[in-house]
Amino acid sequence: MATIFTKIVNGEIPCYKVAEDEKFFAFLDINPVAKGHTLVIPKVEDDYIFHLDEETYIGLHLFAKKVAAAVEKAIPCKRIGEVVLGLEVPHTHIHLIPLNQESDVDFKKPKLKLTDEEMKQIAASIAKNF
Ligand code: 5GP
Repeated sequence: MATIFTKIVNGEIPCYKVAEDEKFFAFLDINPVAKGHTLVIPKVEDDYIFHLDEETYIGLHLFAKKVAAAVEKAIPCKRIGEVVLGLEVPHTHIHLIPLNQESDVDFKKPKLKLTDEEMKQIAASIAKNF
């Protein structure tokens, strides 16, 4: 069965898309820990990042680097943090999180409540800078 992220890539489930190429896809996390919290995924399904073939692993990181540069232009912050957890969704994803302080990357904190309009604006701003 397809993962929820494959359904997002295929347009079966909506998302706030920020970037895409032939092999990779980036979209806003639906429960952001910070404004601009973005997920970067390979289109190919693989549960565990360290099980990706080398080409996909490297390609994912090069794509994430470009997305991070766009997030950094769109969202004022000190830098973009990169986190890989993968405990919830079994489809490799890199979290890109705008950081001003260490606590901005605390996944146990209550998530931000952003409106549909705010999420659309953030995604559009990142996409424009990609
Ligand atoms: P992890 O697997 O890294 O522990 O967490 C999965 C992340 O994916 C969470 O931050 C969660 O908010 C996000 N997520 C889960 N389902 C969806 C979804 O349907 N759409 C989007 N945009 N993000 C999701």
